[in-house]
Amino acid sequence: MLINDNPKKLLEKLEIAKKQLKNAKTREEILALSNYIYDLDESIAAIDPTHTPTDKLSFLNDKNNEVLDKKFNVHMDKLMRNFLENKDFHRDFFERIYRKTDHEKRIKEDDDIEITTLSEEDYYNIFFEFMKQIGLEKCFDKFVKTKRIYTTVNSIEENTLGSTMFNPITKDSDILVDDLDYDVFSMFTLAHEFGHVYDLNRFDGSINNWNTFFYQSFNSEVVSKTFERLFVDFLLKNNIQVPEAKTLLHDMLDANYEFAKASYIITLIPDVYLLDDSYLGLSPTKVYKLVERYFSKNDRVRKFINKCSNLDVKDTFQYSYGDVVSMILKDRIKDDEYNLDSLKEFFEFRNKPFETEMLDKLKVTPDRYVKLYKKDIELLKKQSN
Ligand SMILES: [Zn+2]
Repeated sequence: MLINDNPKKLLEKLEIAKKQLKNAKTREEILALSNYIYDLDESIAAIDPTHTPTDKLSFLNDKNNEVLDKKFNVHMDKLMRNFLENKDFHRDFFERIYRKTDHEKRIKEDDDIEITTLSEEDYYNIFFEFMKQIGLEKCFDKFVKTKRIYTTVNSIEENTLGSTMFNPITKDSDILVDDLDYDVFSMFTLAHEFGHVYDLNRFDGSINNWNTFFYQSFNSEVVSKTFERLFVDFLLKNNIQVPEAKTLLHDMLDANYEFAKASYIITLIPDVYLLDDSYLGLSPTKVYKLVERYFSKNDRVRKFINKCSNLDVKDTFQYSYGDVVSMILKDRIKDDEYNLDSLKEFFEFRNKPFETEMLDKLKVTPDRYVKLYKKDIELLKKQSN
């Protein structure tokens, strides 16, 4: 079996992590480990519904809990302050992207594609070839041999297709794919998660940097999304499961567009609501009232806001910047014949809170993104004929 559905090893890791937590010396360590334990707990419960998750932090005493909340809030405050300082930049950046990728001319998706279920062997071989193209076939093999790819019985969380459980102290990692079937859709999730593994394994900062990266930067989805794009490219280039690959590309571009639009909308909400997160409690109607004057009827923004389940700054911007930066990085990696070295330049910045310098250095601009986005749309049209 390629995929592991027995959480025994994860339960052992949970015990180890709890011991590490007891011996943790700093608040930053406590925060990082608690987060890992929380992930493990949720994942184990998704693999084996009989597992009762330890209540988030019940193994900590009250004093530690308080410390943890404070530490967490310090990170969140810093994130928001940084966001507000750069709000004009974000607004301009995502407005340009949103306007130029507006979907009036969007191509229709094939509704009834047939999803091929692959044999275990074919599944392995296709993904192996993808990983080989980017020089990571050994990493994939290691995960298969040591049974570090898990599947679930129950869904993890709404809108969550997978997760990477990474111990920030020992750098041990496992991958979870929600309800994995042997098709290219779960491979897409797998590609995303291997992006996280690649990224996190190359983390060279302190545990303080780790939490900053995790809670304050908008860089945590960049490499995983780069891997997604490389994977879809790989399928189309090699004529593998083309109808499904087209659907993946279509859905990816659609999601990219929606994250850009959501990001732009958030930047239109007045600071006073953003400062204390009270905007998260606003009704869709109120949010619409705050931002409607920036849109025309054709933008169908009311419908969009109603549909958005989450306009959280951290989540939304981690994904939208992930989309934009990954588009440019993928292009470079392709130019470099799939050598991942150009990610090194990104790694120099990725532990830090948002700064425009990173975008300058990586030559990430809305125009460049839009150009590549349109190239993908053309590819999709071509593939449709
Ligand atoms: Zn991710």
